[in-house]
Order: sequence, then structure tokens, then C-alpha cells
Amino acid sequence: MDSGAEVTQSPPGGSTTYFDGASSKRRAVMLRLSDRLEIVEDGSALAAWAYDDIRGVDSPSGMLRLSCQTAPALARLEIRDTALAAELVSRCAKVNDNAPGRRGVAVIVGWSLAAAASIVAIVLFGLPLAADRLTPLVPETFERRLGDVADAQVKGLFNARVCDNPAGQAAFVKLVTAIRESAGLDTSVQSGVLSSSVPNAFALPGGKVYLFNGLLAKAENADEIAGVLAHELGHLKHRDNLRGLIRDSGTSFLIGLLFGDITGSSVLIFGSRTLVTSSHSREAEQNADGFAIDVMHRLGRPAKPTGELLLRVTGKEGKGLSIISSHPLSEDRLARMSREDRPASRPPLLTSAEWRSLKSICDAKL
Ligand SMILES: [Zn+2]
Repeated sequence: MDSGAEVTQSPPGGSTTYFDGASSKRRAVMLRLSDRLEIVEDGSALAAWAYDDIRGVDSPSGMLRLSCQTAPALARLEIRDTALAAELVSRCAKVNDNAPGRRGVAVIVGWSLAAAASIVAIVLFGLPLAADRLTPLVPETFERRLGDVADAQVKGLFNARVCDNPAGQAAFVKLVTAIRESAGLDTSVQSGVLSSSVPNAFALPGGKVYLFNGLLAKAENADEIAGVLAHELGHLKHRDNLRGLIRDSGTSFLIGLLFGDITGSSVLIFGSRTLVTSSHSREAEQNADGFAIDVMHRLGRPAKPTGELLLRVTGKEGKGLSIISSHPLSEDRLARMSREDRPASRPPLLTSAEWRSLKSICDAKL
């Protein structure tokens, strides 16, 4: 969409909410993106915010919350539609300049300095080093917002929806919860099965893990899938996905950091594509495999089945998929998972009925 064009958006389900800052009334509103942001209720404008006055406010995952410097201090706009949020943020050059506290200033200053130093580092040493240095400095709130925008783009890229057949979803939640708790990750991790026939799984910055139905279709038991999900959670825990995004979107990401255009759509479109198609370093992959093996041990379940699934999907070459690509060959990974395997000491993570439900999570059911 051209950034100069006038856009009127009314997301389905009234997903944009406005608080005028004077009363506590929630208003379901429509946004008109002209030369300013107009907040419209029942056809009449309640407020108009200049893009440069709009600032981001801390918000839960899955929502963009904004304030405006010229509006009452407590006026808030809450947007749940990721495409609309991305479109709006791309027009708000100062959305990340929200009057920070002392610590916030230190983080931002440190971050800008790191970005400047990193640009020099790119020239001297290439990008991987810069990405390694920068990743720990990126605030989690920003990482989550980045993940939300990438999320919408990835679904578009694969033309995929999140499968939500209730019985399958219940089984998936049970499986993911067991793994997440074992992995020591909190409930901000979101996950789902995507209706794509590609056999793959990946994680996005900010705590989203997706399993493609194509990989589920090739799996023979819950342990195989559990290890894959644990591997992706390992990438999340080590922030490998954010590091990869910084590395692959390169200088545009870093320059964006310096000038505040962090959520610039060009960076993200490029970034999201590489998030799914590119690979982590061999070391990152081995760490994620180690993490997965560890989680399976703690769950009292064998690690070897995951290696068997990977080998089944890729053959001995092991190419072309982000859960698999370029890194240790599937044969080597299976060998490691076999070597470090322990026999099951606890019952299966899913009953056989739950496993069948999970396998058919993308089937429509009335
Ligand atoms: Zn991986």
C-alpha cells in the first residue's frame, strides 16, 4: 500500500478501541489515515492526531497501544489488527520516542550507540558480529511488536491460517504447555498450527512458535512433534530469531534503529521472508537441539523420535527447510539424539485419542 494514500480501515469485530482520556468509556472506532490519523465513531471524527505526535505505550502482546502528545494524557488507542497497526506505525516516525524514564533513556542511548558501533562493525567485520552485539540490547517490547508485524506477513506469505479445530487445539495446547513449562518459558509464548502443507516449523521474535500442518502430517507420535516444538522454543529462549532478523535485514535494520524508523515496512517485509526461509548458524542449531534434548529428558520422554522425524522428512541430505536446512545433517542430528536418548520414564504427553485429534487439527469440523 502506498504510504501517501488515504486509507480508511474498519477492522472486523471492532478491534480498534479508543479511550478519550476524560471518561473511562471504551469506544469502538474506525481509523482514517489521511494527512493525520482521524479517529472516527459512527461517521463523526472524535479526534485527529498528527502522526509525529503519536507515541507507543507499553502494551500486551497482540495489541498496539498508542498515545498522543497533544491529546489528554490518558487518551489511548488500542489496535488489534496487525496489518492496520503496521500501516499506521509506518507513518508515525516518532512512535518509539515515548518519554522514557531514566533507565529507558540509558537503554535507548546504549542502543543507539551500539547501532552506530555496529554499522562500523559491519564495514569492518561483516554482519554476524553486529547482530550478536545488538541482539541483547533490543528491548523485549520492541521485539514483540516486531514479531506481531512479522506474524501477519508470514501468514500472508504462506497463504496460511491458524488451524483451530477445537479437539485438535485442546491437544495442541496440552502438548505446548507441557513443553513450555519444562523449558522454563512463561505464558507470553504463543503457538499454533498453520494450514500449510510445507513440512516445517519456525519461531518469530517476541515469542511465537508455528508448526506447519505438513510436518504434523509426517509425524507418527507426539514425542516427534514435542522435540520439534522444544527446538523452536530453544531458538526463542536464545533470541536466535531476532538475531537472524537483524543479520539478514542488515544495514537497513541498523539504520532504522538510529533514525527511529524501526518498524519500517521494507525492513520487515524483507525480514519476515528470511525469518522463515533462512537458517540459523550451525552453533545456534546445535544449541537448540541440545535444549530440545534437555526438555525431553525433563518430560521423561525420548529425544530420538524427533531425529527420526527430521530424517524421514528430509532424507539424508537434509535440505531446504528452516527446522532442518543447512545445519547439521539430519543423520548427524539423529545420531546425537540417539546417543543422548533416554528411555521413556513417564507416560506419553498425549493420549492416543488426543494425538489423533492433533493430527486432524486442520480438518474442518462442525
Ligand atoms: Zn533450528
